[in-house]
Amino acid sequence: MSTVAFIGLGNMGGPMAANLLKAGMTVRVFDLVPAAMQALADQGALVSSTACGAAAGANVVITMLPAGKHVRNLYLGNGSEKGLLEVVAGDTLLIDCSTIDAQSAQLVAAEAAKSGIEFIDAPVSGGTAGAAAGTLTFICGGSDIAFERAQPVLNAMGKNIFHAGGAGAGQVAKICNNMLLSVLMVGTSEALQMGIDHGLDPKVLSDIMKVSSGGNWTLEKYNPCPGVMENVPSSKGYQGGFMVDLMVKDLGLSQEAALLSNSSTPMGSLARSLYVNHARQGNGRRDFSSIFEQFAPLKK
Ligand code: NAD
Repeated sequence: MSTVAFIGLGNMGGPMAANLLKAGMTVRVFDLVPAAMQALADQGALVSSTACGAAAGANVVITMLPAGKHVRNLYLGNGSEKGLLEVVAGDTLLIDCSTIDAQSAQLVAAEAAKSGIEFIDAPVSGGTAGAAAGTLTFICGGSDIAFERAQPVLNAMGKNIFHAGGAGAGQVAKICNNMLLSVLMVGTSEALQMGIDHGLDPKVLSDIMKVSSGGNWTLEKYNPCPGVMENVPSSKGYQGGFMVDLMVKDLGLSQEAALLSNSSTPMGSLARSLYVNHARQGNGRRDFSSIFEQFAPLKK
C-alpha cells in the first residue's frame, strides 16, 4: 500500500487527506498551521515537521496550496530552503491539486522531468462538500503513464477523473470551467432578481428555468437566492462553500490565460470585474453565490 505525503491541509486538503486514510493508505502530512495537522493526526496520519520530511521516501506526494507561488516555492525551493524535487526519489509521483496558472504547473513538470520524476497537475472541482464526500472531479494534465499511476490515489478522493492533455492542460480546463461557472452564477442571479422585481416567487421561477433552456448547474445545485434551496451557502448566510476571493483569483488566471492566447472572453472579463467589486465591498470570504446581493435592492 502506498505511502502518500499530503502537503496543504486547508478547507480542501484536510478532507482529501482524510479520505486517503479511510482508504487504508499511510499518510504523512504537513501544513504551516499546526491545528490543521493535529486534526489529521487524530484520524491516523503521521505528522512531519517539514514538507521535505513528509515527502522524502513517499511513493506519492500530493499538494493542495493556495496559488502558483506557493507551488513553485515548495517544489523548486526558495533561497536557502530546499525544494521537494531535491529530496524525493526518482520513482515518486508528484500530484499538485491546487488551482494555479498553467505556466507554473509546466515549469514544475519540466524541472521534475530533468530528474526523471513524473509530475501531474490535477486541480479539482466539487468544492468542500465534494472533498468531504470523496466525490471530487479531478482534471489532470501530464503524461499517460503518470495519469495511470495516479488513479489509485485519485479514486480514493474523487468520482470523475479526466485527462485533459499534457502538462498544464488540467489547469487550463479548470479555469475555463470556473470562468463559465462565474458567468452562469451572475446570469442566474440577475434573472432571478428580475423575476422577483416583477412579483414572481423565486422558487417557482427557479423550477421553471431549471427545466427550460436557461437551466444550468447553479439552478440545479447551488441556487444563489436565499430560501430557494436547502443546504446551500445562500441559505446559510453565504457561509462555507467557495470563497469570493478564490473566484477572483481564478478569474484573474482565466484573464491572464486569455491574454496569452489572444482569446476573446468578454463575459469572463465582466464577471471578473463584478466579482472584484463584490470582494472590495467586504465579501471576499463569503461564498461566491453572494454575488446575488449585487442585484437585490438594498435592505433598509
Ligand atoms: P485554504 O486556504 O483553506 O488551504 C490552503 C492550505 O495550504 C492552508 O492550510 C495553508 O496553511 C497551507 N499552506 C500554504 N503554504 C504552505 C506551505 N508552504 N507548506 C504547507 N502548507 C502550506 O485553501 P483551500 O480552499 O483548501 O484551496 C486550496 C486550493 O484548492 C486553491 O488553489 C483553491 O483555488 C482550490 N480549490 C478550492 C475549492 C474550494 O471550494 N475551497 C474548490 C476547488 C479548488
